[in-house]
Amino acid sequence: MALMTCPECKHSVSSTAPTCPSCGHPIAGSQGVQAEAVKAAGRMGAIWVGAPWAAQIIVGGLMVAGFLGVMIILATQ
Ligand SMILES: [Zn+2]
Repeated sequence: MALMTCPECKHSVSSTAPTCPSCGHPIAGSQGVQAEAVKAAGRMGAIWVGAPWAAQIIVGGLMVAGFLGVMIILATQ
């Protein structure tokens, strides 16, 4: 485990860390796109977990209804 300097905030970061723990800048392997996707997914997850249960039910219900709608359309064609 080597330490390197974060290009963004100049903190010492493990070169094996996917992102800088200080500022979230992608580190490991400089896989910027992948790290950005992980960061975005994490952000979406945090928003989802932080959302009120009523919103989760509404969004979840809409997603299920949309999925079933597509399935019915595909099945009846
Ligand atoms: Zn940083």
